[in-house]
Amino acid sequence: KNSTHMQTVNPYSGEVIQTYSEHSRDQVYDIIVQVDRAWQSWKKTGFAERRQRMYRLADLLNERKKSLADLITLEMGKVNREAIGEISKCAWVCRYYAENAESFLQNESIPTEASESFITYQSIGTVLAVMPWNFPFWQVFRFLSPALMAGNAGILKHASNVPGCASAIEQLVQEAGFPKNVFRTVLIGGAKVKEVINHPKIKAVTLTGSTPAGKAVAATAGASLKKSVLELGGSDPYIILEDADIHEAVRLCVSSRLLNAGQSCIGAKRFIVLDAVYEAFKAEFVRLMQQATFGDPMAEGTTIGPLARKDLRDELHQQVMQSVEQGATILCGGYVPEGDNAFYPPTVLENIVPGMPAYHEELFGPVASLFHVKSVDEAIHLANDTVFGLGAGIFTSNLELAKELAEKRLEAGCVFVNDFVKSDPRLPFGGVKESGYGRELSVIGIREFVNVKTVVIR
Ligand code: NAP
Repeated sequence: KNSTHMQTVNPYSGEVIQTYSEHSRDQVYDIIVQVDRAWQSWKKTGFAERRQRMYRLADLLNERKKSLADLITLEMGKVNREAIGEISKCAWVCRYYAENAESFLQNESIPTEASESFITYQSIGTVLAVMPWNFPFWQVFRFLSPALMAGNAGILKHASNVPGCASAIEQLVQEAGFPKNVFRTVLIGGAKVKEVINHPKIKAVTLTGSTPAGKAVAATAGASLKKSVLELGGSDPYIILEDADIHEAVRLCVSSRLLNAGQSCIGAKRFIVLDAVYEAFKAEFVRLMQQATFGDPMAEGTTIGPLARKDLRDELHQQVMQSVEQGATILCGGYVPEGDNAFYPPTVLENIVPGMPAYHEELFGPVASLFHVKSVDEAIHLANDTVFGLGAGIFTSNLELAKELAEKRLEAGCVFVNDFVKSDPRLPFGGVKESGYGRELSVIGIREFVNVKTVVIR
């Protein structure tokens, strides 16, 4: 990762796509200075001017949906149908902030003894975004659209396996009519992020990625007193109570587990099922997992594509194997398919106990962990017995109980009842515990990177 070249590899074919030269330190510093300069004028623009460009960006995404989706599939292996959905969602978040940023950031008058006192939300400058490959457009756009609408400027350090997506995004922003340097990409590896954060023109940093990367970035940001927002890993628990519609619960749980070949922070990962319905849930769950077809991510009928990189697949298989050595049982999958690609089959594990990777760690691929419990209390205990706290699900027909558990007892940034967790521009998104802090999306997201300034006139 310290080399000066980045090579992208198609995880389906194993073929090299392209080689990129990393930016040198001088080039990176030059970009930072140019972006800061662009911010000096961008911050003075009105909402109407920003809005018009943001709508244009949404239109460009829609017009080029297919070719942008193809780029995602090529670089990280997501099935093309899902990649098209991802681009549409980016257009949605652009329109959402184009429409709402002005009201979210309007001055707010607060009566005091003074003749006038109010809050005003001012931009803070250039924000660094360190982003992951799993939703290579969506993760960037949910940062970019509120940031630009708030009058900030942005620098993107994307994951090293998706530089094509990174430069396509930079290009789109420029074509939409935003000033050239208001949003730029730097091509550097994770090891060089520290010096970017330390640069005096960088005012804050947001990272979406793994918990270790989050800790490293938070430490650097803390040492230089820069604000950070962290969207990190998750091991979302889904609790299935006795009165749940099991058929529907299984369908939604399997969909969530297999979305993006299981490489989603908010994928359902641990299934905690009450004893009375465990066998029924398990039988149907394994059946649907086995039904999923893995293959060419460009082909119509494919359910899941390869994982994004072979080393990630190998790491996942290690976690599975180590859990099995410690006593976990494989109900389906759990092997490395032949071929020069990064496939991993839908896999289901049971008999998982503390001490195993499948109990404590995030399994970032199509691997489900099944648990059975005697009571709701035991289910809650197991659900919370993790360092993570991103999303959670509850399946039941007792909505009173579900609300109580969702509001007061599950340690998570969001809980969905009778559905799987999804991000939505209108709703805040983020985690607690080692899943990170701060929120993206909604009114809360756009207010993370602003100066909440108080003005008092005697
Ligand atoms: P990752 O290895 O942490 O990489 C994410 C980004 O951080 C990449 O741009 C990476 O750059 C950079 N990075 C890695 N180590 C770093 C360090 N020490 N200092 C600074 N930057 C560093 O994660 P990933 O494998 O790409 O993504 C999977 C993880 O992201 C999973 O844990 C998943 O749950 C999490 N995720 C969370 C959310 C959320 O919203 N909470 C959403 C999606 C994914 P390089 O590529 O150059 O190493």
